[in-house]
Amino acid sequence: MTPGVRPLIAGNWKMHGTVAEAAALAGAVRDGAVGGLPADLLVCPTFLHVAGVAALLAGSPVAVGAQDCHAAAKGAHTGDVAAPMLRDAGATHVILGHSERRADHGETDATVRAKAEAAAAAGLTPIVCVGETEAERLAGRAEAVVEAQLAGSLPDGFAGVVAPAGGAGIIAYEPVWAIGTGRTPTEADIAAIHGTIRARLAARFGAAGQGMRILYGGSMKPGNARAILALPNVDGGLVGGASLVAADFLAIARAAG
Ligand code: PEP
Repeated sequence: MTPGVRPLIAGNWKMHGTVAEAAALAGAVRDGAVGGLPADLLVCPTFLHVAGVAALLAGSPVAVGAQDCHAAAKGAHTGDVAAPMLRDAGATHVILGHSERRADHGETDATVRAKAEAAAAAGLTPIVCVGETEAERLAGRAEAVVEAQLAGSLPDGFAGVVAPAGGAGIIAYEPVWAIGTGRTPTEADIAAIHGTIRARLAARFGAAGQGMRILYGGSMKPGNARAILALPNVDGGLVGGASLVAADFLAIARAAG
């Protein structure tokens, strides 16, 4: 963790859940957060469920985010959703550049950067994902890949995002090979990459970069969360599979204390 930075535990619900299931999961997370937790909580359902989950969580300490947005504020883009629409529906955050978006939809660093600008302009806090593939790690290129993604994906205003939920954008380091696989990097490898990310943020954004949250994502579970969250420059988690079970998600949040 970074001294003085409150951790964030964010759930990426991906393409899961009916309306009723999303409501039940959100309600269970909300109820579990009563009494306080040592981390901020965020849940990111599909576009379809953002408004309903936001309404259900209104007045609770659990924030709502989306999993993507378009780079334009409106227009002829069939099937897409704009950042101002998400803000209007009650979202405060948006995940951008997740490796599944980069792989499934060909998103480039430039795409992600444009989306992050659009999100910030709409008052959403962007959570920009970076991370190497297994081949890149085995080739000794993990740090170089992540540094290049950071340089290309973050807009200049990333440190000073005009957002209701926080003053700066958020980074999620997610090694592609650790997502949904049950495998994680060693603690030393996580600490090394997070240290590199911190150095790049500080070099580019100065003092603001020192306080920006850097989340770890990739097979975070109740059993490994405490050790990962204790590492330097790990300021929370972006959680996929385990965020679909309220008890596991809440256990991860408790492990941040
Ligand atoms: C993710 O896709 O953001 C993720 C971290 O997934 P999982 O926790 O299931 O590895």
